[in-house]
Amino acid sequence: MTWTDFREPWHRADGDSARTFEAEAAAEIADGHELHGLDLIAIATCEGCDSVVYRGSDGTFAIVHLSWTTKRETPPWPRTTRLGGFIAAEAAMDQHEH
Ligand SMILES: [Zn+2]
Repeated sequence: MTWTDFREPWHRADGDSARTFEAEAAAEIADGHELHGLDLIAIATCEGCDSVVYRGSDGTFAIVHLSWTTKRETPPWPRTTRLGGFIAAEAAMDQHEH
């Protein structure tokens, strides 16, 4: 797997869709959330749910289940799984199921 070639149900986030996912995460993540304060880049989205894989400005990855309320959620929402690095992210994406 590379960052441009994801296995189903994941699809690469790019361009306008990536910006949309990044803006939504920024809208939902409030002060006190474990990802608050990090710049998040959308990497991949799941076609079967609202999960998005982000790379944080600290170099770690996270899967975030967006609520699409376009407003601040109460931490620990939106539900987040922190992933240390590429290997952890890859494993979590492989194990992702609904
Ligand atoms: Zn999913």
